[in-house]
Amino acid sequence: MRLLLVEDDPMLGDSVQCVLQQESFAVDWARDGEEAELALNAFLYDCVLLDLGLPGKNGLDLLHDLRKRKSSMPVIILTARDAVSDRVAGLDSGADDYLVKPFDPDELTARIRALLRRRDGRVEPLITFGTLTLNPATHELYCQGRPIRLSLREFSLISLLLERPGATVSREQLEERLYGWNEEVESNAIGVHIHNLRKKLGHDLIRTVRGVGYMVIENP
Ligand code: CA
Repeated sequence: MRLLLVEDDPMLGDSVQCVLQQESFAVDWARDGEEAELALNAFLYDCVLLDLGLPGKNGLDLLHDLRKRKSSMPVIILTARDAVSDRVAGLDSGADDYLVKPFDPDELTARIRALLRRRDGRVEPLITFGTLTLNPATHELYCQGRPIRLSLREFSLISLLLERPGATVSREQLEERLYGWNEEVESNAIGVHIHNLRKKLGHDLIRTVRGVGYMVIENP
């Protein structure tokens, strides 16, 4: 899952980025309004974490523009402005959620998971598929009740494939959702992760669609 963090405070930005990366998110960090605007025009993010007071273009203007373009990207406002009127203005401008600084990183990641759940139309916090059960909060995966050890990247990859079982996802799409803009991606990185997932989960779960990408299928 790829997130856009829009934050001009270097210390806060750095700590939020670290926490989110440890939670297996790919994070692009925009430090001012213009950088954020470029990023929002270039990528489809799974969630946007938006500070309001920014150099360049402010957060509410960015949000207005995003919704004017009919973008449904989930947006959580992160700001020190804690007046009720500010919160109401943020939500009524199209934000999905609002968190007042200082906040606990655990609460932020739980809110992101809740938003992604709603976006994907899931009611249950756990993702189940065939004999697999994934817990996005703990990054645990169980196959027939047996825990399977996965790296964070492998966990993200199988989560992405399980978003739409039966649909083919290209290598480029997977790379775009798994890696932030300042991360080096080896040309065969996705192939290596798929190989490792097959070793751990069996060869039949992830099918290669030649020249197109990958898909997960149940009971092949
Ligand atoms: Ca700020």
